[in-house]
Amino acid sequence: VFITFEGPDGAGKDSVLLRVVPALAAHLRVPLVETREPGGARISERIRDLILDPDNTEMDPRTEAILYAASRRQHLVEKIRPALAAGKVVICDRFVDSSIAYQGAGRGIGEAAVAALNDFATEGLKPDLTVYLDVPASVGLARINAHRRDTQYDRLDQETESFHDRVRTAYLKLAAANPQRIKTIDATQALDQVCADTLAVLQQYLVN
Ligand code: C5P
Repeated sequence: VFITFEGPDGAGKDSVLLRVVPALAAHLRVPLVETREPGGARISERIRDLILDPDNTEMDPRTEAILYAASRRQHLVEKIRPALAAGKVVICDRFVDSSIAYQGAGRGIGEAAVAALNDFATEGLKPDLTVYLDVPASVGLARINAHRRDTQYDRLDQETESFHDRVRTAYLKLAAANPQRIKTIDATQALDQVCADTLAVLQQYLVN
């Protein structure tokens, strides 16, 4: 079973995963693999370094989209597909929907073009279930500014609120178009409630 987590910046995805994954693993009979792009795949990591290098200010949006797709491809081949083939539950922090939202809508390449590029990269592999943590851009950005993360500096930290608005709108469109796969959770709620809602969605899917 292939599960992905998605959301705009500041939705609290990391905090939710940190709490929910161990709780879920305790209830599962099959092994659970948690991963995130670039997922420890050596080639994927080298590609990601190129994308995030603050010196690469001249990077063209389509170049960025292609590099994300290439990094994703290698992670998929080396890690996600083998785990799924072995019958494991795979939880991946961000996947194709992130590219559709960030590169397609945020950077303005177009959602359909980015979806097509990623179809090539994934050979059409789709998550069985996607948990989408929804917050308005203003709320997400306020959270990020309140708890500045010590993560490495990346070019995305400089994006405007309208960029994040486009990202969120694209996610909402994806969720509306794929109601079976994408489950939306109100991530403006308190963390405890977001985690409870997320666990309920996961358990319902994995038990049925
Ligand atoms: O998941 P996390 O929030 O740590 O993502 C790291 C950063 O990479 C985010 O700021 C997100 O904006 C960006 N990103 C992106 N395009 C993707 C995936 C992530 O711009 N396809």
